[in-house]
Amino acid sequence: MSVEKVVVIGSGPAGLTAAIYAARAALEPVVFEGFNAGGLMPGGQLMFTTDVENYPGFPDGITGPQMMSAFRAQAERFGTRLIREDVTAADFRQRPFAVKSDETTITAHAVIVATGARANWLNLENEQRLAKSGGGVSACAVCDGAMPIYRNQELVVVGGGDSAIEEGTYLTKFASKVYLIHRRDELRASKAMQERFFKLTEEGKMEPVWDSIVIDVLGEDSVTGVRLQNVKTNEQRDLPCKGMFIGIGHTPNTDVFKDHLKTDDKGYLRLAQPGRSFTSVAGVFAAGDVADHVYRQAITAAGSGCMAAIDAERWLSEQNLT
Ligand code: NAP
Repeated sequence: MSVEKVVVIGSGPAGLTAAIYAARAALEPVVFEGFNAGGLMPGGQLMFTTDVENYPGFPDGITGPQMMSAFRAQAERFGTRLIREDVTAADFRQRPFAVKSDETTITAHAVIVATGARANWLNLENEQRLAKSGGGVSACAVCDGAMPIYRNQELVVVGGGDSAIEEGTYLTKFASKVYLIHRRDELRASKAMQERFFKLTEEGKMEPVWDSIVIDVLGEDSVTGVRLQNVKTNEQRDLPCKGMFIGIGHTPNTDVFKDHLKTDDKGYLRLAQPGRSFTSVAGVFAAGDVADHVYRQAITAAGSGCMAAIDAERWLSEQNLT
């Protein structure tokens, strides 16, 4: 079996940028673009985003799927081979490495892991329907919060950690008020974030709804409110709002690699050196949200994909494998 120079796992902005750079460096990359791993289709989380308005170079915005289609075309133009299958196993114990789907096994001298992270959802039927239709449910305030439908409207954010407070804080720029729905009466967020939240509460820009969970999202084509249940009293009530943002954490897609690569306590890949793409195994590189729980943006993912491809190329060259 012939050995590939580099295999990229993942087809979001990180994976496809890595492929573009690797292809242009004549490494003839093979990309496992996934099929439906972790509920993500090829193209990753951006396939669930309607308008991307913060990616430089698109002054009029672009939809997530259009953007990923352009990334893909650019990767293919320089000779990337795409395999539309989910990676189900990997063996990084010996070189060349092996990467397997149910149908295909590829061996490679270097691997770039760019499998991303998936936002956690409440998994309510109407939440999923309105998230997919762009009807006012989102798991990314920075991506979607500036949309006109949210301007001067009352919005809700679900969660009590740093993400929820960060999303809420960002939304106060546009919304008339942001309610923070939390299932307890104590925040999990860091002290600094809590201070920020309570200041915004004093200013009337945010308001906590303690001990409460969202049990349904109301509205046909767009959100008109959320149905809440108090977890202590079981009392239910409807809170009118024009948008619901979920900030209850992300899950990195690292299950397949966790026996081989070091991860942190949340499952994100641990980088061997800050600011570089090296993982705990020489020759295996990480790019994008799979190793980043802080920024999680298309532009930062793309940047780290570029870094991983350059690191992989230099590493292959040092090993005389290019
Ligand atoms: P997190 O710390 O795990 O917080 C998740 C929050 O969502 C918790 O308050 C949790 O409630 C709630 N939650 C979880 N599942 C829920 C469900 N099914 N229904 C309702 N509520 C639910 O996640 P995160 O806020 O995304 O933060 C992840 C990591 O990234 C943290 O280490 C954080 O510090 C870091 N981060 C940092 C920044 C920053 O510094 N700027 C920004 C974002 C994230 P309970 O509290 O009851 O468990």
